[in-house]
Amino acid sequence: MGDTANFVPHQHNASAARDMEPAAQARADSNLISVLAQQSFDVIVVGGGPAGSSCAIALAREGASVMLVDARTRGRDKCCGHCLSGGAWTILSELGLRELVQSVATGATGQVAWRSGTRGFEMNLPALGAITPRIELDKKLLEEAERVGVRVAQPATAKWLAGGNVAVRMLGQELSVRAKLVIAADGLGSGIARARGWNPKSPGRKYGFAGSWRAPLALSHWSAQRIEMRVVRGGYLGVVAESQEHIHVAGLIDRNSKVSRPDDLLNEVARDWPLLAQALQEGRPTHWNAAGPLPWKPTCIADEYTALVGDAAGYAEPFSGEGMRWAFESARGLVRAWREHNGWSVAAARTYSKWHRDHIARRQQKTLRTAWFLGEPKRAALMCQTARAFPRVASWLACNMIQ
Ligand SMILES: Cc1cc2nc3c(=O)[nH]c(=O)nc-3n(C[C@H](O)[C@H](O)[C@H](O)COP(=O)(O)OP(=O)(O)OC[C@H]3O[C@@H](n4cnc5c(N)ncnc54)[C@H](O)[C@@H]3O)c2cc1C
Repeated sequence: MGDTANFVPHQHNASAARDMEPAAQARADSNLISVLAQQSFDVIVVGGGPAGSSCAIALAREGASVMLVDARTRGRDKCCGHCLSGGAWTILSELGLRELVQSVATGATGQVAWRSGTRGFEMNLPALGAITPRIELDKKLLEEAERVGVRVAQPATAKWLAGGNVAVRMLGQELSVRAKLVIAADGLGSGIARARGWNPKSPGRKYGFAGSWRAPLALSHWSAQRIEMRVVRGGYLGVVAESQEHIHVAGLIDRNSKVSRPDDLLNEVARDWPLLAQALQEGRPTHWNAAGPLPWKPTCIADEYTALVGDAAGYAEPFSGEGMRWAFESARGLVRAWREHNGWSVAAARTYSKWHRDHIARRQQKTLRTAWFLGEPKRAALMCQTARAFPRVASWLACNMIQ
């Protein structure tokens, strides 16, 4: 195995993170509004997921004045499979965030098992990954951003105006804030990319969903470190033991398929999988987080005023489980371009765009090709059979899948 993570998984504990008293929070929010009304920043980051937070942290450490605006209330979940791929560790080390991310991991991932109908195969992943529940991960990253001096406005929304101005809406007030660079880390279907006219011509056809529930009895039979992937007509599902008590599922549904609801896909998968059926007797997700449509591929990702990072800059599908890695990696790519050009400029935008095309967009194309083979039941069954018979095919799939 390559670069592995040595971490002690911690148990899920939502109250462990620092939360402010409501009165103190209200005071902090109104102070922030008066700061925003007077100040301009080197950088405004729109979006506080892994891409936005890590980018804000890295740029603040470079000495830039940074403001981050996130629409989510702190502690709200995000539609995700929560599996951080092993290839992310080197990137996180370079960003100085490895220990922070390890501290929220509730488990490790080392194998993936694919199954379609009666056919299936298992393989070791190229590097040990981690299970990082997003509530904890996103919260920790935002806390770190604040610690290194980033002004965080949350919940607040930002809208592109023109030439580096954004309208920030917070606590019922709208303020125009100025920055030399607006970083759009606002995820799939980025509002900033659309406002710039960079949206793709045709929208994607797929939707993601995710949810968890308590199923300790079924989990007592679970293989540690394993990601289970199941392909059925209309979509696929990834399942992990998020802790010793909680099971987490995330999947994808094609808009044109007959399966239109996450619960239907879950039931369909459970028909051939007794362990999941047992887990469903213990409970079900009480709500689903959704995302989409996808894939999403903007026509441009950077110019002298704006740069897109993470999903906003393009996302294929969750199939390979590399979304968070790409989010961190694109933040690292942008910060390298910033450093190389001593700040943001047309030249820095060109450097970043080229780097993104060569390192991330190309990889996403590969993911889409592999997903074509493994994301549909008949083709997946054939691939499973071939991978079992020919170990080289299995290692080709491993290299093409999760890195
Ligand atoms: C079903 C599914 C399963 C997945 N499973 C995995 C997995 O197991 N492993 C993995 O690595 N990746 C997975 N991914 C992908 C991963 O979730 C994303 O790639 C990752 O979240 C991207 O991070 P980001 O910071 O770019 O965007 P996001 O995490 O989407 O964050 C965007 C943020 O921007 C905020 N925002 C949006 N608009 C505005 C606005 N106007 N103003 C202010 N804030 C705004 C949002 O509130 C949000 O907080 C999965 C995705 C799906 C759909």
